[in-house]
Amino acid sequence: MSAKRDYYEILGVAKGASADEIKKAYRKVAMQYHPDRNPGDKAAEEKFKEAAEAYEVLSDADKRAQYDRYGHAGMGSGGRGGFGGGGNMNMDDIFSQFGDIFGDDIFGSFFGGQAGGRARGGQRMRGVRGSNLRVKLKLSFEEIAKGVTKSIKVKKYVSCNTCSGSGAKDKGSVQTCSTCGGSGQVRKVTNTFLGQMQTVTTCPACNGEGTTITAKCGSCKGEGRVYGEETVTIDIPAGVQEGMQLNVSGKGNAGERGGMPGDLIVLIEEEQHKELQRDGLNVAFDLHISIPDAIFGVQLEVPTIDGRAKIKIPAGTQSGKIFRLKGKGFPAVNSYEKGDQLIHVNVWTPQHLTGEEKTMMEKLQHSGNFKPNPDKNERSFFDKVREIFS
Ligand SMILES: [Zn+2]
Ligand SMILES: [Zn+2]
Repeated sequence: MSAKRDYYEILGVAKGASADEIKKAYRKVAMQYHPDRNPGDKAAEEKFKEAAEAYEVLSDADKRAQYDRYGHAGMGSGGRGGFGGGGNMNMDDIFSQFGDIFGDDIFGSFFGGQAGGRARGGQRMRGVRGSNLRVKLKLSFEEIAKGVTKSIKVKKYVSCNTCSGSGAKDKGSVQTCSTCGGSGQVRKVTNTFLGQMQTVTTCPACNGEGTTITAKCGSCKGEGRVYGEETVTIDIPAGVQEGMQLNVSGKGNAGERGGMPGDLIVLIEEEQHKELQRDGLNVAFDLHISIPDAIFGVQLEVPTIDGRAKIKIPAGTQSGKIFRLKGKGFPAVNSYEKGDQLIHVNVWTPQHLTGEEKTMMEKLQHSGNFKPNPDKNERSFFDKVREIFS
């Protein structure tokens, strides 16, 4: 066994210290090296364990007397010396003695999250947390492009107004739980060959709430919440996409008996646009122009997600040509990036002609300039596709 430090030295007390002084000293050292305050610090953890071991021995009159006479040698790990000597107290053992040492005021903080019904920081958890709620929200392209604030009515459990969520008929009908004395936890002491072991569990009588209700609220039948409706205002950032989820904290179902509410999870859906299609940040538009317009060029208006835009189709535009309106696409969520609008030109081939139209077209059918003669620079369909998706 490696050289062990003197237990009195560890706690910083004199040999003749009173039980009260030892308790106070341990409290101080344990607070200083508590793992919650020194996350990941191995040295602090060792000091914390060392102090717990010292206290375990010095707080017990029999063990202390034995230690005073024989030192560490008197603390044989196999004997009835309990944890002393072994130096192997695990954290749970250490935490389980804290209730006696620190009292209930900070008791909870040392049990942080280990036992149900307790929240870190010593606050007893009230009631039962409400469940999360999912709603779908349909947005138009315009709303997505600019971002929008939506107020939606959500059917859900809301806190009961009659009892302010407590579930009790009145103040007098809330009683401290007699099983756990209001702590929400019960400690079980079991005898093992290593000595007494304490375990802490959620109080079964009050489910860790620390209180019981003797007379229930008539409106909510003791649940502290009723089924109702609430209007929730949600800020939607610009650029969201179909399938994205937004979490609105605390706007889900109200908890039971004053418990924390759940979250509202908003699932984004895109409303189909009559003329535009979304492709990531880009917007695609299929433009159909007549054969004469393709030949002579034309000025026209196209829809965008931000109103209509004038564009000029130059003379001699081929079917399949793609024009790009820079920055007329969707913004990216939380960035300055913006997509484009891509205008895909389709030259419309008429399917029904009058006799007169037929005569005119027949004249052109064998005319030299109407013979397809693609320019070498005219990019192929595949090049265009590659460019769009690059
Ligand atoms: Zn009520
Ligand atoms: Zn209880």
